[in-house]
Order: sequence, then structure tokens, then C-alpha cells
Amino acid sequence: MAEKTIFKKIIDGEIQADVIYEDDQCLAFRDIRPQAPTHVLVIPKKEIPKLDDVLEEDAPLMGHLLVVAPKIAAQLGLHNGYRVVINNGPDAGQEVMHIHLHILGGRRLGWPPG
Ligand code: 5GP
Repeated sequence: MAEKTIFKKIIDGEIQADVIYEDDQCLAFRDIRPQAPTHVLVIPKKEIPKLDDVLEEDAPLMGHLLVVAPKIAAQLGLHNGYRVVINNGPDAGQEVMHIHLHILGGRRLGWPPG
């Protein structure tokens, strides 16, 4: 069996994370190497490696992540804006093969991203 990703280990409670939101479908926790004053990852509990692997049947789950993200942003006080990012594959620098949304805020973010 393939080795668990770090995020699956967080879901299974084998690795600690600073969890700020959880429901039956997803989990959100603070990024261990924050790239902004607020940097949170939202992950589905279902193991989907990357955006390319999302199936039609995952549409409600992916939609749920996008419904939860602004609630978390509001909870964290990101009233002046924030960015939601999904890195997909090597050129985007995806490091963990468990799909995740980055929520970044708390400073003015540059565009285009590096
Ligand atoms: P990616 O580059 O795959 O889009 O983002 C993966 C993110 O996961 C990175 O921002 C990285 O800092 C974060 N990360 C990697 N390992 C851990 C960990 O063990 N705990 C937490 N909280 N974040 C992690």
C-alpha cells in the first residue's frame, strides 16, 4: 500500500496540526511554513492527490471546500481580502499529494504570483 501523505496522517490524528475548522468532509489547519501572516490549508478528508484527479462525483465536495473557505477567512478576520490557491503538479510547486486549498491573507499579496 502507498505510504500515507502527511495530510492523511493529520486527518488520522497521527501527526499534530493547529486545526481551526473541521466537519464531516474537510479539515482546516495552519500551514507549518506560513507564507503570509495568515496561512491556512483546507483539505478534503477524501484522498484526492491533486486537482487533475478530481472526478465529476467530487463536485459537491470541491464546492463545499469553496463554501467553507470564506467562512474560515471571516473567522480569522481577513476582512480586507485574502487569496485562495490550489497548486497542481510540479510547475506549480505542489509538495503534498493530497489536494488542498491555501488561504493566504493578512498582508498585500503580489500579482502575478512568483
Ligand atoms: P503545496 O506546495 O503542496 O501546495 O503546499 C503544501 C503546504 O503544506 C506547504 O505550504 C507546507 O508548508 C505545508 N506543510 C507541509 N507539511 C506540513 C505539516 O506537516 N503540517 C502543516 N501544518 N503544514 C505542512
